[in-house]
Amino acid sequence: MSETKTEICIVGAGAAGLWAAAACARVGMQTLVLEKTPRTGSKVLSSGGSRCNLTTTLEADQTARHFGHAHDFIRPALRSLTPQGVRSHFEALGVRTKVEPEFEKVFPASDSALEVRNALQRDAREAGAVFRLGSEVVDIEPHEGGWVAHLRDGRVLCERLLLCTGGKSFPKTGTTGDGYPWLRRLGLKVVDPVPALVPLASPAAWIHDLSGISVDGELRFGKRRRRRPVLFTHKGLSGPGPMDLSDCVTRGGLREARLDLVPDISWEQLRAELVAGAGRPGSPRLASILPLPRRLVETVARQAGLADGNPRLNQIPKAARHRLIDEAKGLRIPISGSLGFSKAEVTAGGLALSEVDRGTMEVRKTPGLFVFGELLDLTGPIGGFNFQAAFSTAALAARAASKR
Ligand SMILES: Cc1cc2nc3c(=O)[nH]c(=O)nc-3n(C[C@H](O)[C@H](O)[C@H](O)COP(=O)(O)OP(=O)(O)OC[C@H]3O[C@@H](n4cnc5c(N)ncnc54)[C@H](O)[C@@H]3O)c2cc1C
Repeated sequence: MSETKTEICIVGAGAAGLWAAAACARVGMQTLVLEKTPRTGSKVLSSGGSRCNLTTTLEADQTARHFGHAHDFIRPALRSLTPQGVRSHFEALGVRTKVEPEFEKVFPASDSALEVRNALQRDAREAGAVFRLGSEVVDIEPHEGGWVAHLRDGRVLCERLLLCTGGKSFPKTGTTGDGYPWLRRLGLKVVDPVPALVPLASPAAWIHDLSGISVDGELRFGKRRRRRPVLFTHKGLSGPGPMDLSDCVTRGGLREARLDLVPDISWEQLRAELVAGAGRPGSPRLASILPLPRRLVETVARQAGLADGNPRLNQIPKAARHRLIDEAKGLRIPISGSLGFSKAEVTAGGLALSEVDRGTMEVRKTPGLFVFGELLDLTGPIGGFNFQAAFSTAALAARAASKR
């Protein structure tokens, strides 16, 4: 059984762990990083379609507003290390960044997630952090005024323990929810983890038949709504709109989505166009009025109860016309659940925020233990928010843990 002593032990070399490792080592702390997989930053590598949407162009407070119940908690972290601060840091590490104006996303100019991961890893190593890859922590506990991290074949004694083992989504990248039972055993409250930013399943065959079509629609679950691309798949719905609202299903238990397929045209405008078209000589067909792919037009017509998927406008009775507009402005989509943790980009739930000091990420009841990144009960939407949260919370934890 090997035994190692260090000032700082970081468990998990993901986005948050890499950032924290560099920050601790840079100020002279003896820093050891334990990572169970053979590589660092696995999720960084697979993020953003391997392009890594590393942050957002929004200001700190605007960014905080996207974190729902966690917005007050995360605001100090985002003000301390702002999205602009993250960008400047990467530029200083030699990673040029670019903005994709749609949804304020920031990517590396190279479109290479590998470049981002390598920069984080190099920064931490050059600062003096030591990495032990393939080292799985199996438990943690307080020990003689400090902490111990138990490995399969030994243990690491440390003064400060920084936990950033992530959630339990995409388990093939190493995140299998290991941190939750450790925290529960310490008597801390952990909000049950559920998949988030996850594609949705629909039992409706007519939805599966639309597979491959993407629309710029507005999706609604009850009062929550989101105007972002919606992709029909052979299992249900994917793309930023459905994934951003997926907690309505996984947490809220809602089972029907409404999709406004023509959000730029009001109900009244659409009615006026259909009526005007019906009165025109040689009355045009439905597809010439609805700016949608033909298969979707036919689906809307069928869901409105019309036998012809692309009828002439003067053949649509008034009652059917109203149903047609209702469907185009709010297609009813039955939802049976989500595709689960294996397809979820992040995990909602985690260590309850009430357990953590938002200025330092130190766990209130257990001094010397710092928890940050996705292991906390906070989740942002698609758009670089989750990496930003990982970096900002890591920076605060590193600063506090490095005080002697
Ligand atoms: C496919 C995909 C695409 C994504 N794209 C984006 C994007 O473009 N932009 C964005 O902002 N977010 C994106 N995300 C979300 C983002 O990757 C995470 O929110 C972020 O990585 C969380 O950082 P973290 O350091 O807290 O956790 P992780 O990055 O998940 O790191 C946790 C680390 O802990 C290690 N670990 C776990 N258990 C143990 C143990 N017992 N012992 C030792 N080590 C352990 C894991 O192996 C892992 O390396 C994406 C996620 C996925 C799955």
